[in-house]
Amino acid sequence: MKHYPFLNLATVNEPYMSRIEQALLRVAHSGRYVGGDEVCGFERELAAMIGTDYAVGVSNGLDALRLILRAYIEMGVMKPGDEVIVPSNTYIASVLAVTDNGLVPVFAEPDLATLNLDATNAGRCVTSRTRAIMPVHLYGRVCPTESLKELAAAHSLKIIEDNAQAIGAAKGGVMTGAMGDAAAFSFYPTKNIGALGDAGAVTTSDSELAATVMALRNYGTERQYHNLYAGLNCRLDPLQAAIIRVKLPLTGYESDCRRDLARIYDALIDNPAILKPAVPDDPSEHVWHQYVVMVDRRDDFRRYLLDNGVESAVHYPTPMHHQPCYENQFGHLRLPVAERVAREVVSLPVTRCTSADDAREIAGIINRWQP
Ligand SMILES: *Cc1c(COP(=O)(O)O)cnc(C)c1O
Repeated sequence: MKHYPFLNLATVNEPYMSRIEQALLRVAHSGRYVGGDEVCGFERELAAMIGTDYAVGVSNGLDALRLILRAYIEMGVMKPGDEVIVPSNTYIASVLAVTDNGLVPVFAEPDLATLNLDATNAGRCVTSRTRAIMPVHLYGRVCPTESLKELAAAHSLKIIEDNAQAIGAAKGGVMTGAMGDAAAFSFYPTKNIGALGDAGAVTTSDSELAATVMALRNYGTERQYHNLYAGLNCRLDPLQAAIIRVKLPLTGYESDCRRDLARIYDALIDNPAILKPAVPDDPSEHVWHQYVVMVDRRDDFRRYLLDNGVESAVHYPTPMHHQPCYENQFGHLRLPVAERVAREVVSLPVTRCTSADDAREIAGIINRWQP
């Protein structure tokens, strides 16, 4: 029986491997193993690609979010106890960054058609203590940022994009990461542009925010041995910076590979038991970090897929308010959309490990499923 892997990172990185090897050797021979030209070069290239004035390399995506919020606290824009609106169906890092800073996450239900935060649901969560909205471009799809920006402007809120999953997506010529006041990127190995370890970045066009994040990531150091803030060590490893620099210029190509597979699934899957994700009219609005269907009898469906050689995954099986670490604080909340999404979502293979023929065969296997 043929096997359809969900993801194999060695396969994903194979086309880049000789250039990655060169980049690693360049850093090894440079004698500069923290900061330096490699990190600065990465920051310049990311800012130019996204269209922001600044990019700051950091240790990972969670730290990018933590540092943005911490910087706003240091700048006096928000203070512990203030509220940040987050989607109820995100990866837990979005919420951890909020609670880590003593801020209060307020969970907005997603729009069921896109599984993304929208202004209507976010608007219901605004109180006098709200200071920011954190749109997560989940699965690679751009959130409706114009309407979220109108909401933010009406209530003087910051927009902090969690762009861990949507690097390269754009709407109206503006890229994710340049749509709000600040954005967090993750280059975790499984992301669309992945390092060979942990890595992340903050983008912004706010010079004060950029300077504050830069200081905070390096012990709160403003200039050497002068610590303006009680900071952290959240620096980007130059080895990882060098690797990401190899892959960054091919972000568009990587997105197109995923779009081709998504188009095949969308055209061919027609099992009435499977709810397919909505495909945006403008393909640039989705980079398909995941191709996520919804299905009532998920366990049966996934077992059937596996019996036919098809690996799948679930992003994510437990909603935030029912995670053990948050159960005491938020377990009483009723978030029926997030709960349904957590019960029904299944991610299908959509990386370079899957060929167009594989996707056609997977669609055929799915269509033969009889629940
Ligand atoms: C991966 C991810 C993060 C965290 O990134 P790390 O680099 O793993 O810390 C944050 N938010 C979302 C939505 C993610 O998918």
